[in-house]
Amino acid sequence: MTRRRMLALGAAGLGALAVGDGGPEMATITRPLARGRAVIHPGHGPHLPRPGAMPARLPPLPARTDAVHRLPDLFPTVPPETIALTIDDGPQPEWTPKMLDLLAEFDVKATFSLIGIQVKQFPKLADRIVRAGHQLCNHTMTHPLGIASMSRKRVDAEITEAHDRIGHATGVAPKFFRSPGGAWSHAVFHSAARHGMVPIDWDIDPRDWARPGTRHIKRAMLKAKGGDILLCHDGGGDRSETIKALRKVIPELKKRGLTFVPL
Ligand SMILES: [Zn+2]
Repeated sequence: MTRRRMLALGAAGLGALAVGDGGPEMATITRPLARGRAVIHPGHGPHLPRPGAMPARLPPLPARTDAVHRLPDLFPTVPPETIALTIDDGPQPEWTPKMLDLLAEFDVKATFSLIGIQVKQFPKLADRIVRAGHQLCNHTMTHPLGIASMSRKRVDAEITEAHDRIGHATGVAPKFFRSPGGAWSHAVFHSAARHGMVPIDWDIDPRDWARPGTRHIKRAMLKAKGGDILLCHDGGGDRSETIKALRKVIPELKKRGLTFVPL
């Protein structure tokens, strides 16, 4: 049943992707006029909620026992030449804007895994990510690397606080959860599910956070094939190698016919 539910959700997610931004659904009727007409302001539809307004809580999902590693696990009907870039540990004032500029330059939509304490410090940056059309992932409040051995109560506090911070800064309730270091436990799966979030891992990891050199990051990322979820970082330190590598990797993967999608 869990899988069936996931499949249904996957189809809905892909449908949302296919619609994209900028269509007529982006218009919101904000104020009825005396004669029954309405003032329509573009650009504030359901895809661009207002920051400061807490989003409605997502309905809980059945808890999974594993995280999603590849796109077909999430979207069974996804075209085979589709890949997803996930960018973790921001928002960060120096590197997130550089990452956003780079993604805009190549017209790539990605998924940003946000840390609650970073969002608390840089709420406008979190909002800028959403306004640029990227997807969000909850990445806990404080990024505890020992989360898999934490009590259910502490796990829940980490996830709930981040959920609220992100919601407040962006108006978005994240539909995805990434655990720090990819560490999972029963408690983590349960808390993510309770918040209506699908747990997400990756299958291409260039370990860019360890600054292994631009060439190493490039080589690891160029192994990506259709259906892969790629992991990179815009927080946690100097990300110049990541940015330099992506500047080469993104056009090269596109040239091979791969299309980047947000989750
Ligand atoms: Zn992380």
